[in-house]
Parts: sequence; structure tokens; C-alpha cells
Amino acid sequence: MLEFDRFYRTARQEGHVSRRLFLGYSAALSSLPLLAEQVSGRTLRKVSFAADPFSCGIASGDPTDTGVVLWTRLAPAPFEPSGGLPAENIVVEWELATDEAMTQIVQHGTAIATPQLAHSVHVEVEGLEPARWYWYRFRAGDAESRIGRTRTMPVAHSLPPELRFAFASCQHFEDGFFTAYEHMAHDDLDLVFHLGDYIYEGPGKEGGVRKHLGKEIKSLEDYRIRHALYKSDLHLQAMHAHCPWVVTWDDHEFDNNCACDISEEADFLSRRANAYQAYYEMMPLRRTSLPRGSDMRLYRTISFGRLASFQVLDTRQYRTDQPNGDKASPLNEAACDPRGSLLGQRQAGWLQASLLESPAEWNVLAQQVMMGLVGFRPEGKELLHYSMDQWGSAVHERGKLLEFLRDRRVPNPVVLTGDIHSNWANDLRIDDRQPETPIVAAEFVATSLTSGGNGVASPKGLERRLADNPGVRFCNAERGYVRCTVTPDAWRSDYQVVEEIEKPGGPVTTRAAFVVESGERGIKPA
Ligand code: FE
Ligand code: CA
Repeated sequence: MLEFDRFYRTARQEGHVSRRLFLGYSAALSSLPLLAEQVSGRTLRKVSFAADPFSCGIASGDPTDTGVVLWTRLAPAPFEPSGGLPAENIVVEWELATDEAMTQIVQHGTAIATPQLAHSVHVEVEGLEPARWYWYRFRAGDAESRIGRTRTMPVAHSLPPELRFAFASCQHFEDGFFTAYEHMAHDDLDLVFHLGDYIYEGPGKEGGVRKHLGKEIKSLEDYRIRHALYKSDLHLQAMHAHCPWVVTWDDHEFDNNCACDISEEADFLSRRANAYQAYYEMMPLRRTSLPRGSDMRLYRTISFGRLASFQVLDTRQYRTDQPNGDKASPLNEAACDPRGSLLGQRQAGWLQASLLESPAEWNVLAQQVMMGLVGFRPEGKELLHYSMDQWGSAVHERGKLLEFLRDRRVPNPVVLTGDIHSNWANDLRIDDRQPETPIVAAEFVATSLTSGGNGVASPKGLERRLADNPGVRFCNAERGYVRCTVTPDAWRSDYQVVEEIEKPGGPVTTRAAFVVESGERGIKPA
């Protein structure tokens, strides 16, 4: 209850918790299953499955220079609430080898898949060699998984010559096929970052290329089945098995445009607990991300030697409510209110400390919503309007963060973003509306992988948008992902677009490519 007391006291001090939410939170806490790691009850070793229990695939993630997380979930019937398994523990064996044929096994062990965590396992392998590829697989009862490939990061203070990674976001299952991952698998990547909207919470609807199962998701079982549906995509499975991923969520992993403890629903914190638990269960995350009630720590640092440090952010869980009723608005008093925050105090403090400690040449913020202040003019309005779900809703905090990057001379700051279903390349300033002031950081924004269906290269009103927003170097509304090549001298972002996602097999094209030279500010065409 200690956590709760603190929550309630802080919330009261900030004056935004209603009695309804207070009661909702109490109910949420008392009804939650304990996510304790200790295993109780019977443990089965000799199991015979009615169907492949590795229906959700395998994955690895959150690598360090000595270890990585290996993940899988047993679910022979992934679209049933039980996953097709009895409420008993099951032994899962894992093996890690230095060769693809799995003949040179360097580590192996067992993990217990418990029904409390939907028979998922998160093996934190340690004691590995830095900067090398490994292969792994799982066994449970009479079943064996595919072989996955993963890698460790270069040793902490080394300067590796190159990092290749991709980042993606917004993969609505009903809007298109995950063809982007089919192409991404050929990109020779060290890492993949997913910046949120990995699943969408809405009910199944007609007219898409595929269909969600069931109604809008709310219960733990609903969230589990939705994740299993997304994970049933074979291109997604193959990409997870291909290299380690680093994931963070945006809003749709829980609920559209969710913000901290604000919602119309009384039972919203117990729903959030369901969403967070299912997310943890289905992702290659470390124990440090194990949810506690409706809280889950997702912000963390991933380092690739001292070439690049990624501060992975969570701009949803701790944010203040969207000002101006979540409606696009001018940057008015509410948007500039110093209390407005996307990070929350604790994460903001952690971020500053992490940036100060970072030995990296490239300092990356891997996060959700657009940091570039990109305004547009709604019909009949003279003033530029800004999304109140993005950093324009917390202008003060955004300015402080950019001032920090500038004043502390954080080397080569780069912001990676998802959410907006279109590609952008933005020069970031303390105030983007003042192009005569110095550039502080570069922002690369990935379009959606599928959300919105087939897109267009030149969105409506593009010329006006570019003229109104001098920091914007590029905008495109096709579908795809961004591939990055990072060396000590330069950063390159390739905007990969898939021209057709509503049918399988759409070809990929590099629509644009941009570079930032180390030590310089400003995005340039490659
Ligand atoms: Fe989205
Ligand atoms: Ca979003």
C-alpha cells in the first residue's frame, strides 16, 4: 500500500485526482493478480501440446555488452483466454549457441512459464561476449521453437565503427500487411526500435485487409489475445527472430491518447494494469519492467559502445492531461503552462542524469510523439495550430529539455519519433518558430508501418506546411520505416517506404535520405 499512499498524496498535492479515480485505483490494486516471480503450484515438464505452443514466435531484446533477454510464450491456442494451456507451470528449456546450426552451445538453462504471466518466459542471459551474434531456441515438452538470432552490444567504452538499426511504429493490423518487416529483414541490422502503437485497442471492423478479433479490449485476456493476434503475423515473427528489439509503447497499447491517470473511465487504472501486464508478457523486456499494479517502468538506456546511447522514453504513463481539451490549438497559455509535462518529474530527472553520464558520440532519444513544433492552419483560422498530444502540449518542458541539450553540450542529440503516421525530418530549436536561432538537435520521424492504409508521397497542403514550419526538412505520408546507419563521423537516415501494403508483397523504395555530420547541427540531404 505504500506505493498507493504515495500516489494518492502526490496526486492530491497536484490536485487532479477525483474520488472516482481514487476508488478506481483502490479497486485496481486489490483485484490485481500478484506478478510475483516465485513459482507456486505444480510444474509440468512432460507436456504434449495439441498444437505448436510457439504460436507467438520468439524474440530477444534489451541487449547489453554482456547479455540479452530471450523471450517466448507458450500458447497452443493463442486466441483462447487460457492460451490453450492448463493453469499450471510448464518448464521451458533454452539454448544459446555461437553458430546458426546450434552445434556450439555456450549456455543453456530452464525457465518456468507460469499461468500468471500467460506462460511467457523472459530469460536474462548473462556472461556473453560483447559485440557478437548468437543463436537461440526454446523447448517445451515435445515441442521445439524456431532458431532465433540475437547479439550483444560492443563493450561499454569501445568505439565501434558502425551501428545499423531501424525504427518503426504504428502497425494497425486491420490497415495493412507487415510487408515492411519482410524488407527490414534484408537490411543487415544490429537492432530494431519499436516506438509504439505495436497493437491497437479497437474492436474488429469490416473493410480492412485483416480483422481484429472481438470488441474493444479491456480485460487482461482481451489484451493477451490482441497481442497474440498481432504476433501471429509471420513477417513480424521473422523480424523478432532476426535481431534484438528495443520496444516502448505509445497510447494504443492501452487506450487512444491516454495520459497519466486521466480518462473518462472509472475503472481505467485496472484496465491500464491489464494493458501493461499483457505488454510485459508479450515483449522481450527485463525484470526491471515487470509491472507493479498499474505502473510499469519502461524508460531505460540502451548503449552501443560509446558510438550511440539510446534513452528510451515513456511519454504516456506520466504525462499530464492534454491541454485545450486535446484539440489542436495555438501555442497558448495552456500549452505553455510550466506544469505541462510529457515525461513526469522522475523520468525527466533520470533523463538529465543519463545524458550527463553518457559517453556517447550520438545521444538519442527514442520516444513517441513529435518534438518538432509543426503547426498547421485549420480552415478559416489565421493562427497556426499544433497537436495537443505532441510536445507542443508541453512547450515549457520541451524548451527546458532542448536548453539542457544545448547548455550541457550533449554531443550530437538525435530524437527518434513515431505516432504521427507520416515521415518527417525536423531541425529542432528551443523555439522552432524562430529559424534565426541555432539548431539544437535533429529529429527523424518514422511513418506508420500500416496504420492509415496506403499513403501518399505528398500529403495535402504540404507546400504550405513547409513554408509555415521552417524547421521541417522533409515530410511524406507513405508507409514504412526508417533505417539508420551511424558511424563516429555521421548519422544517416533512410526513409524506407512500401508502396503497397493492402496487398502482400509490396516493393520497398528509399524515398529520401538525410545525414547529420558529427559535431554539426542541421539535417542535410544525403
Ligand atoms: Fe498510431
Ligand atoms: Ca499514437
